[in-house]
Amino acid sequence: MVSPEIFTTRSEQETFTLGEHVAATLQPGTFVLLHGDLGAGKTAFVRGLATGLGANPDDVSSPTFVLIQHYKGRIPLVHVDLYRLESGPAVDDLGLEEMVEGAVVAVEWAERLPRQIEDSVTVKIEDLGDDARQITVLRQTANGKRQTANGELL
Ligand code: ADP
Ligand code: MG
Repeated sequence: MVSPEIFTTRSEQETFTLGEHVAATLQPGTFVLLHGDLGAGKTAFVRGLATGLGANPDDVSSPTFVLIQHYKGRIPLVHVDLYRLESGPAVDDLGLEEMVEGAVVAVEWAERLPRQIEDSVTVKIEDLGDDARQITVLRQTANGKRQTANGELL
């Protein structure tokens, strides 16, 4: 049976480390679709992704006012925050499909994307109270198959 991978982190550092591990399994051309309320830890996870992709995590801030940020690394990372954007044509105009060529594109508030994206990793972060977070990682490839964290196809 196909099942997503579920982790519990107990600090921002642990979420960062999980992002770093997930980054190690990513190929260029992949979207990381982040879901979770404000303060869930999406940006913390992206800081880990940046580190895992060879970029400087200190460059990663919450791009709430800057919609899109680019970081150089072993694989370039594009960091997008759709919080202030209405779903629909404006999102379509961002050109995310072009940006992902040769890069990883991490999208906060991915539920605002107008349509489903293949070749993606969905990351859902839920606040369990205090510093605990449940993080669900689900991989989706173009052929509809799902991958585990170590790249195994199911
Ligand atoms: P988001 O981008 O989802 O709005 P941020 O990553 O900017 O969230 O902020 C997450 C906040 O929650 C930070 O202040 C962080 O220190 C705190 N935090 C507490 N526990 C955790 C955890 N387990 N994982 C991630 N962040 C945590
Ligand atoms: Mg954020």
